[in-house]
Amino acid sequence: MTKVRPNILLIYTGGTIGMVKDFETGALKAFDFKNLLKRIPELKQLDCDIETISFKEPIDSSNMNPVYWVQIAEIIEKHYAAFDGFVVLHGSDTMSYTASALSFMLENLDKPVVLTGSQLPIGDLRTDAKENLITSIHVASLQRYNKPVIREVTLYFEYKLYRGNRTTKLSAEHFEAFASMNYPELVTSGVHLKVNHDYLLKPKRRKDLIVHKNLDTNVTIIKLFPGITETVIRSVLNTPGLRGVVMETYGAGNCTTEEWFLNLIKDAIHRGIHIINITQCAGGSVLMGQYETSEKLKRMGLISGKDITTEAAICKLMYLLGQNVSAKVFKTIYETSLRGELV
Ligand code: ASP
Repeated sequence: MTKVRPNILLIYTGGTIGMVKDFETGALKAFDFKNLLKRIPELKQLDCDIETISFKEPIDSSNMNPVYWVQIAEIIEKHYAAFDGFVVLHGSDTMSYTASALSFMLENLDKPVVLTGSQLPIGDLRTDAKENLITSIHVASLQRYNKPVIREVTLYFEYKLYRGNRTTKLSAEHFEAFASMNYPELVTSGVHLKVNHDYLLKPKRRKDLIVHKNLDTNVTIIKLFPGITETVIRSVLNTPGLRGVVMETYGAGNCTTEEWFLNLIKDAIHRGIHIINITQCAGGSVLMGQYETSEKLKRMGLISGKDITTEAAICKLMYLLGQNVSAKVFKTIYETSLRGELV
């Protein structure tokens, strides 16, 4: 079998990774991606062809929202047939949300989508951007029998490739900014790239890519804390148009058993609002019914987010609400792994 040189599309959305310092003013400014190969000649050593495309106006990822998610998904959709893999350069602040959203939006994905960024700009002497960029492209171009090895949405940062919808940004300081507490790394980068084949998502049948662009933002996140008031919960649950809530509870999915709280939850569920129970712990899973403090929630019909991250939970909610899944099967579908986001 003759080996075909993979071609990778690099999509720049913004964030620190694409910045260089203006040596005269000291200010950070966006880097012209057309000159990427000139700026980082090391990229020429990679065994792939690289083309670049950039948002007209690159954004700080704190401004990320579903409209931009659709833009990224549409770039991938438009170039899907022509490229073997996609690397999305993105600010680290909301990268886990974007990775989660894209994982749901890109159904039947059969090629790698690798999101990466950096803590320091690419022009900085001590930058982590070069390694993150070079290895992301390398990972995206990995092939076996002329087929991509990675066939899912992933996130690469500081020597590790993670399943994107399993990640959370944990540090605003360390180069190792992300963690995937409930799922092992897909690839680790040392002297060699070590691919953990057993953990990769393997799309079963060859089906065409479907890009879902309808995301419903009538959702919210409630993080419980000792002392949270009835007024706050009542006002959030009575938000006009609200259709879904991700509720971060304690430990294995536990909450207060005070009557006012349980009544407000019960009432919201009766009004058709979907409530997802996830844990505010960094690792581990919700197990409703294990304690008396979650048994009532289970009986009320709360949906278990199991070991999903907050980022993936809210994106899955927006995605499923946008699919107009019937109320009858919503719980079952939410509790099922669609893209490897939960057990
Ligand atoms: N605020 C920046 C962003 O998320 C930080 C980064 O790029 O890492 O766009």
